[in-house]
Amino acid sequence: MTEKLSDEKFSEVAEHYRQICARLEEAKRRAGRSDEVRLMAVTKTVAPEIVNYAVSLGISLLGENRVQEYLEKRDRYAPGCEVHFIGGLQTNKVKYIIDKVRMIHSVDSGKLAAEISRRAAAAGTVMDILFEINIGGEESKNGIPPEELRRLAEETAALPNLRIRGLMTIPPVDRDGSSERYFEKMKRIYEDFRTGCSGEKNFRVDTLSMGMSGDFETAVQYGSTIVRIGSLLFGYRKY
Ligand SMILES: *Cc1c(COP(=O)(O)O)cnc(C)c1O
Repeated sequence: MTEKLSDEKFSEVAEHYRQICARLEEAKRRAGRSDEVRLMAVTKTVAPEIVNYAVSLGISLLGENRVQEYLEKRDRYAPGCEVHFIGGLQTNKVKYIIDKVRMIHSVDSGKLAAEISRRAAAAGTVMDILFEINIGGEESKNGIPPEELRRLAEETAALPNLRIRGLMTIPPVDRDGSSERYFEKMKRIYEDFRTGCSGEKNFRVDTLSMGMSGDFETAVQYGSTIVRIGSLLFGYRKY
């Protein structure tokens, strides 16, 4: 998990950060957007010293996708950064992170939502969540099919310690290398969801989490409000 840290590594991250910020601004400009698109640094396999360096450059949001790895690293993270959980989450692991993250992006069952609400109640908090959509219908991926969104929303609407903030997705890549048609679909699903839920208790839908290193500019074009960037910021990783 740990990598050797050299001066070059740090300056590489700084350079990548500058480039990503510039590209994000340009993508927003092209999309005619003046609202906020948050840049999340996805930290898997990255040493805490490098994560802290990214924070010192201006990153204010971290994405964690492995419970064990996060628990091992978090004591060495600089304080004050917002952390979201973005990986697959087993129900029996919720208790370990409930008071250590601000949002969970990967909710894909009523059972998981119920456990998050129960643990949040015990911890005296309300947890922000996103529903993960399997937009390409891929068997290998987490998330619910879009058709099940309504039912899951109804199932979770009465859970007292949840606040439903929106949707997350990891789209497939088509043979031509593009994910555009999936982002387009997600935009429509998100807009319908937001309109349909407005005014309902427990719902404050304002977040569409999509776009990674290879496709974040397209995601911005289709309304993403959080782009989750790992390898483009920190460099190539082994898994
Ligand atoms: C690893 C990961 C990312 C970032 O992927 P990159 O292609 O390295 O930017 C984003 N979201 C999730 C859920 C991830 O696991």
